[in-house]
Amino acid sequence: MLFNELELNQHLLHALKEAGYTKATPIQEDAIPHLMNNKDLLGCAQTGTGKTAAFALPILQNIMEEKTVGKGAIKALILAPTRELAIQIGESFQIYAKYLPLNIQVIFGGVSQNPQTATLKRGTDILVATPGRLLDLIRQGFVKLNQVDFFVLDEADMMLDMGMLRDVRHIIRELPKKRQSMFFSATMPKEIEKLAGTILSNPVKVVV
Ligand code: AMP
Repeated sequence: MLFNELELNQHLLHALKEAGYTKATPIQEDAIPHLMNNKDLLGCAQTGTGKTAAFALPILQNIMEEKTVGKGAIKALILAPTRELAIQIGESFQIYAKYLPLNIQVIFGGVSQNPQTATLKRGTDILVATPGRLLDLIRQGFVKLNQVDFFVLDEADMMLDMGMLRDVRHIIRELPKKRQSMFFSATMPKEIEKLAGTILSNPVKVVV
């Protein structure tokens, strides 16, 4: 399926064309129409399948239709287990959102928090974060998640292996009940399935 059959807005299609994307990958073809319809998603997918664009494009499409976008509150939160993955996701969002008036920020631990809090104060629409640092910043009052409409948990099984699920559960409690959630994991051990059940409501399942 070609991207321009997916009813994405012109700004997104322009950015995709410039990035050399023409055809959607299988996970994109399966997931994007459901996500554009605000369904929750359970994705069983590895990195390299194009899953980042599968969740980023519908978020960017839907976020631009919100009246409150650009008012300084975080509208989309993406949690990733590692700094490298968070940076990669942030870079992908930057590419796709090149022609959209959105601020995208990436935060992770192991570095000074001051530049991160300074950027947060200027207003972030889309936040990509690792759980530990995000929870620190929430507890210090630098991050409020009560306006989040779109939530992604990426590489959930890796978060389990890294002992991050406690932090993840704390973060989820800060989110509004009414939101669209997307959950990705390469494998689905029992504990991950259980977590998905608490986060998602009536999800569409996509396996690639
Ligand atoms: P991901 O699985 O999200 O890490 O994506 C793997 C790589 O494929 C990234 O470098 C993306 O930029 C690239 N990619 C994702 N979707 C497409 C597409 N539809 N056409 C061309 N490249 C893509």
